[in-house]
Amino acid sequence: MRCPICREDNDRVIDSRTSDDGFVIRRRRHCNHCGNRYTTFEKMAELQISVIKKNQQKEPFNSEKIMRGVMRACWKRPVTQEQIEELTASVEREILTDHQGEIESYMIGQITMRYLLQLDQVAYVRFASVYREFKDLQDFITEIQRFTTGDRF
Ligand SMILES: [Zn+2]
Repeated sequence: MRCPICREDNDRVIDSRTSDDGFVIRRRRHCNHCGNRYTTFEKMAELQISVIKKNQQKEPFNSEKIMRGVMRACWKRPVTQEQIEELTASVEREILTDHQGEIESYMIGQITMRYLLQLDQVAYVRFASVYREFKDLQDFITEIQRFTTGDRF
């Protein structure tokens, strides 16, 4: 990391902290050249992942869409919002860890289903039946949005 004061690329990290949501890493750095200290913020590669849809179009990865789909599947099930958020975070973490650059939308559906099966079987079946019918998570999400837009449950 280039020092903002002397422009030399010779630093060491003296402290690293993750934000509460776990997606931003704050690093305190010390410039070995001029001795100044500065802070950098690193965001997870979330925005760098593209989702390849069935029609081969790409769109930026957005975990909100996963969460909406899971929420719909868990409708009236004994599942807390916190569990849904944890599941979404797990899916997102796996995608960001194992898939560099891009991921096919059907893969997101499969990963989500794997976690959902551990959480609630009824929700899993709901998610899977809708998902299989459409064969594409994006179609599912679009359908979900029709129900959820402006009408939060
Ligand atoms: Zn410096």
